[in-house]
Amino acid sequence: MRVLLVHPEFPRTYWGFQHSLPLTGKRATLPPLGLITLAAHLPADWTLRLVDLNVETLDDAALAWADVVMVGGMLVQAPSMLAVLARARAAGRRTIAGGPAPTTSPELFAAADVVFQGEIEGREAEVVAAARGQGPPLVAPPPGARPALAAARSPRYDLLRFDAYVSMSVQASRGCPFHCEFCDVIEIFGRVPRLKTPVQLLAELDALFALGWRGSVFVVDDNFIGNIKETRRLLPGLARWQDERGRPFELYTEASVNLAADEGLLADMVAAGFTSVFVGIETPSTSALRAAGKTQNLRMDLREAVDRITAAGIEVMAGFIVGFDGDDEGTFEAQRRFLADAPIPLAMVGVLTALPGTALWRRLEREGRLRERSSGQTFARPNFVPAMDEAVLLRRYAELIGEVYSPDAYLRRCRAVLATARRPPGPRRPRAGGWKHLARAVWRLGVRGERRRLFWSLLAAGARRGSAAAFTWAVAHAIQSEHLIRYTREDVLPALARGAGEDLGVDDAHAAARDRDRPELRQACQGA
Ligand code: SF4
Repeated sequence: MRVLLVHPEFPRTYWGFQHSLPLTGKRATLPPLGLITLAAHLPADWTLRLVDLNVETLDDAALAWADVVMVGGMLVQAPSMLAVLARARAAGRRTIAGGPAPTTSPELFAAADVVFQGEIEGREAEVVAAARGQGPPLVAPPPGARPALAAARSPRYDLLRFDAYVSMSVQASRGCPFHCEFCDVIEIFGRVPRLKTPVQLLAELDALFALGWRGSVFVVDDNFIGNIKETRRLLPGLARWQDERGRPFELYTEASVNLAADEGLLADMVAAGFTSVFVGIETPSTSALRAAGKTQNLRMDLREAVDRITAAGIEVMAGFIVGFDGDDEGTFEAQRRFLADAPIPLAMVGVLTALPGTALWRRLEREGRLRERSSGQTFARPNFVPAMDEAVLLRRYAELIGEVYSPDAYLRRCRAVLATARRPPGPRRPRAGGWKHLARAVWRLGVRGERRRLFWSLLAAGARRGSAAAFTWAVAHAIQSEHLIRYTREDVLPALARGAGEDLGVDDAHAAARDRDRPELRQACQGA
């Protein structure tokens, strides 16, 4: 069996860093971990090829070569997934769609011969049957069943073109014990964190190391500290592993904000090589946090939490949300004050979105306020009728995001990291290729760029800390600023000025998929 695995294209988003990639000589930020994990679970005698549309194009010869085309991704990638499915079907190939978007929105992918919902571990026979044309058009896991990750195999990193990516990925756990109303992670992966064993995780790092990877590795967990006891057990071995190999990887992950309350855990994470963490701050409004079920954020002062994590040597990237039911104009001022000098260069301020299958989605459906399916973008008009006047919400949001990514505000937040961190986050010395990045950045941002003052001020702030690590950190953040500022100015603000945010075409694609001649899948999806 010849299987073509296709990773769909991401539209331009904050996370894509498309404006910064040319400065790094890379094509994409992260590899398709889901597809290479699936690949590891396919029969060993099948021939596999991977095409990541964020890195390369899909040519007709690759489609002609394949017996089966498997495509997987997130909601925001749906337009690209549907385009791939259309091409594969036109070429007469059998198609299977899987991953987060087909799991939560199977009806959107009626163009696929088979929609595979849920996780692959322990369900290899089902995907084999689907590839052979046996079995139903909707392959769903038994309700509530979630596989133990002891059954997870090490992803097929060998299928990747390492030179195309800024960072590699591994996964230590899935699921999160909390119950934030807007979160789809707990619907997809459950509220009981499932972990790989330390041996499994180190084997994945070994695989990356053996293939020659050095540098950044994203630990793609929903909440790395979802099971703190197990995380504590994992970290000393990870620190030893790094020490024995000359500390080849800088790690970053996602975690709940209660991380800040545990000095020992923070110290262990730093020792293991963690240099940054994404946390969901969401809002300084305690009433909004309570209403959204994000009660873990009520247990400590959020600004103090950010300072503590930063001081330990881990940079905080944070998510913020506006558009909660209790929000009013004062909320925007509170967000602005929180962020003004916070050590959070990368602040993802988005508009509340109801993702399919979430508690928020169900509540808004009951209240008759849902307007359309979410495109997965959170930097635009909400997909439900907000409690606040929508024109005011979008205007105040545009003002907030415009200010957050003004060069001065970004520089202030970067300086706050350098002033707060006991040791600067990031690699202790520049990686191979770092001088090339620096030369490109100096020429394109420092000599020819529009924001030369930001560039040189940031480098000067890094140099003043008097270490190679701080200077390297400053260069990386100057490169990162190029995307954050340009994406805000060129995409987000113009879309908001048009009044409705981006039309990503998902609803059109959804309608088209619904109307396709696929009654059996439509019928199957109605029960999903
Ligand atoms: S803490 Fe994060 S992952 Fe966990 S439920 Fe809340 S939003 Fe989801």
